[in-house]
Amino acid sequence: MKKVLILGSSGSIGVNSLNVIRNFPDRFSVEALTVNSNIDLLGQQIDEFSPSLVVVRDEKKAEELIKRIGSKVKVLSGDEGLLEAASDCDYDILVSSLVGFAGLLPTIEAIKKGKRIALANKETLVVAGELVTALVRDHNAEIIPVDSEHSAIYQCLIGEELKEVEKLILTASGGPFLNKDKSFFENATVDEALNHPNWKMGSKITIDSASMMNKGLEVIEAHWLFGLPAEKIDVVVHPQSIIHSMVQFVDGSIKAQLGLPDMKLPIQYALSFPERLENSFERTNMPKIGSLTFFSPDLNKFECLKLAYEALIAMGTAPCILNAANEIAVDKFLKGKIKFSHIPKFINKALEKMENHRDPDIQTIVDCDRETREFVGSLVS
Ligand code: MG
Repeated sequence: MKKVLILGSSGSIGVNSLNVIRNFPDRFSVEALTVNSNIDLLGQQIDEFSPSLVVVRDEKKAEELIKRIGSKVKVLSGDEGLLEAASDCDYDILVSSLVGFAGLLPTIEAIKKGKRIALANKETLVVAGELVTALVRDHNAEIIPVDSEHSAIYQCLIGEELKEVEKLILTASGGPFLNKDKSFFENATVDEALNHPNWKMGSKITIDSASMMNKGLEVIEAHWLFGLPAEKIDVVVHPQSIIHSMVQFVDGSIKAQLGLPDMKLPIQYALSFPERLENSFERTNMPKIGSLTFFSPDLNKFECLKLAYEALIAMGTAPCILNAANEIAVDKFLKGKIKFSHIPKFINKALEKMENHRDPDIQTIVDCDRETREFVGSLVS
């Protein structure tokens, strides 16, 4: 029996993780759950999965939950609560699915405990890849990617030698604006940007898909997970999202992993690896899908993807600046304060303005993240 701690159990990855766990009651149990503020859903999850600990990041909501449920479950709050859960709970697998930079520190706690990390929080590797991969080695921890592209590559690499890999090919759906002109970005609305054709996800990542920053962050994530340089990580637009990514080897052979766009599969794989568990999820019906198409991304139109490649090549704190600037810009766009076309402009300004620190330690990364947020926030009144 593997005990699971889910960081972010009310988000789409968290809910899907519980959907997987529900199917395998003799394999997995829920040790702890955390949410930002959604105590209604957390209450239902407590009733169904009986965790021994929950964390509500919002302190008022945590008090409200305690009033509701009494002493049935231990309730912690705040960022300290998240850290305490990750460092003190008795668990085997951490599902790291907080949105954004907030996921970094509790994930590091779990790595220091030598746990398996089912990693959905891509920012952990984007902002602190060098540090995190070193900690994983030092503490004998294990990262199994949950992001569908990286899960695909992970699966394609089983039984292969990394030195025989010529390149990784990340697939991208292209998001809702794939067939729009760049000029459309001037007046694109929040609703249009949130209307993803294939994947149902949270709002931050859906906006990142529309700008293709999501793919940019995934290129950086792939670099740290698989140790290949930027020039060996390609992005191919594949609107059907059936091939989740590919690996091309030195003999020209390409392996791909296919499946329906449903996060339950990569989540289950990260929980059960190296085993594959039989399930009743919907199967991929190839004749029904009919055709798979591919083309190159337009880096002139999707500037965020280009900026992410540049940040990866620059290294140091550049990916941290890229990520923090993007989080603030996306937040401002969602609140109707800036245009969609402003997102890459703000990121570019931050990359030009903020100092790039080489070989950053964790405090440098935390400071860089905060200072970048302040800078980008100051660009909008
Ligand atoms: Mg992905």
